[in-house]
Amino acid sequence: MRNTPIDLHTHSVVSDGTETPTQLVRSAANAGLGTIALTDHDSTAGWQEAITAAATAGVSVIPGMELSTNYGPASVHVLAYLFDPLDRTIVTETARIRDGRLRRAERIVEKISLDYDLSWDDVLAESSDGTTLGRPHIADALVRKGHVANRSAAFESILHWQGGYYEKYYAPSPLEGVKMIIAAGGVPVLAHPAAHGKYRQLTGSVIKSLADAGLFGLEVNHRDNSPEGREFLLGLCAKYGLEATGASDYHGMGKPNRLGENTTEPEVLEKMIARGTGSQAFIANGTPAE
Ligand code: AMP
Ligand code: FE
Ligand code: FE
Ligand code: ZN
Repeated sequence: MRNTPIDLHTHSVVSDGTETPTQLVRSAANAGLGTIALTDHDSTAGWQEAITAAATAGVSVIPGMELSTNYGPASVHVLAYLFDPLDRTIVTETARIRDGRLRRAERIVEKISLDYDLSWDDVLAESSDGTTLGRPHIADALVRKGHVANRSAAFESILHWQGGYYEKYYAPSPLEGVKMIIAAGGVPVLAHPAAHGKYRQLTGSVIKSLADAGLFGLEVNHRDNSPEGREFLLGLCAKYGLEATGASDYHGMGKPNRLGENTTEPEVLEKMIARGTGSQAFIANGTPAE
C-alpha cells in the first residue's frame, strides 16, 4: 500500500505554482501527506527534482502532468499520470502547447499594455527559465505593478476570459489528449470536470466518448466542483466505470488551495499504478517500502 494521505494534483514553478519541486515536496511532508503527484501544466521538467527531493523528505511522488486541451471555446484540463516523458507525440505536442502559450501571453500583454503600465519584461521577471507560461505569471506582474491586489483579483478583472484581453492558445482536443496519454503508457483523468467559467463542464456524452477511449477517472473531489457537480460526476463514474479521484490543485501562494484539502483513496492509486506503464521507474517511494 502507498503512503497516505494521497494528493494527486499539485503545481511547482515549472508551471504556475510558486514553489520549486523541492520546496513543494517538503511542503507536502510538512502538511502530513504521504504521496503527491507533481502535475505541472504541459511539462515534465520538474519530475527529476521532485523525485530527488522525495527521497529525503519521506514523501512518495507520482510523476504527472496537467495537459491543456481545447473543446470549442472551453479550456479542458486532462491530468496525465505515469506516461513515458520521452514519448515522441507527448514531447512534440507539449512543446507546441508551451510555445503557443508563450506567444499567447505576449499577445495578452501587448493588449493590456495599451491600458496599463505593463511590459513583457515585467512578466518574464515573474517566471523562471523554461516555465510553462500562463495568465498567473501575468497576474503576478500586475500585482507587482500595483494594478491588482493578488492573483485572484487579477483573474476576476483584467485576466478574466471575458475581461477584454483574453487570447486563446493551441491545444489538442480532449479526445486527442486522452488518446496520446494512453499511447504513451499513461493514465488520463479529467481535471475539475464540474468547474465553472472558462473550464466549462463537458456533457455526459462527451465524457462517455472519453471513457470509451480509455479515460481512467474523474477528479470529483476538487474545490472548483460544486456539490451538485460532484453528484453528477459520481453518477458518470458509476455509469461508465470511471474512478473518482480527489486533489488540492495546490499552487503554493498562487491560490488559496491547501495541500491535502482533497485526497484520493489508496485503492484508486493502486489501480492507477497498475494501469500506468510509461514511467513506473520514476515513482519515488519516499519512505522504506512496506
Ligand atoms: P491559463 O492556463 O494561462 O489560461 O491560466 C489558467 C491558470 O490560472 C489555471 O491553471 C489556474 O491554475 C490559474 N487560475 C485560474 N483562476 C485563478 C484564480 N482565481 N487565482 C489564481 N490562479 C488562477
Ligand atoms: Fe494552474
Ligand atoms: Fe486545471
Ligand atoms: Zn491544476
